[in-house]
Amino acid sequence: MAIRQIRLKGDEILTKKSKEVTVIDDKIKELASDMLETMYKNDGIGLAACQVGMLKRIIVYDYSYVEENSPKKPVVMINPVIKSRSKSMIVVEEGCLSFPDEFKEVKRHEKVTVEYMDLKGNKKVLHAKDIEAVVIQHETDHLDGIVFLDRE
Ligand SMILES: [Zn+2]
Repeated sequence: MAIRQIRLKGDEILTKKSKEVTVIDDKIKELASDMLETMYKNDGIGLAACQVGMLKRIIVYDYSYVEENSPKKPVVMINPVIKSRSKSMIVVEEGCLSFPDEFKEVKRHEKVTVEYMDLKGNKKVLHAKDIEAVVIQHETDHLDGIVFLDRE
């Protein structure tokens, strides 16, 4: 495992669309575990692969901080696709490891249903709400070259 360098504001990789992962090999597994380590090291809640310079549709997150003294709950999603979104919206102040000094209130769907593969290649469906839904929307946006500052 290794800490990877985070790409910052102005790096054009943050505006590019990432490619689907076709084979979950050791390189992808290593990338995912490095992404988690990099995220934790930088006190982040989520990270997309493009933020460490890899245009692959992989996101990681852990929102367990919302409960005090909760154990870590790392999540890795390969090729996540948001399949449905609630009509109800929530506004949360967001930040991003690629924009360390910027924060913005962003309106997001309160609930989303996301399909993805885990690191074993199993297809999964997750119904997420509140902070977890916000994190998933923020991170999947990165896979399409969209950052939170682009959102209203
Ligand atoms: Zn971000």
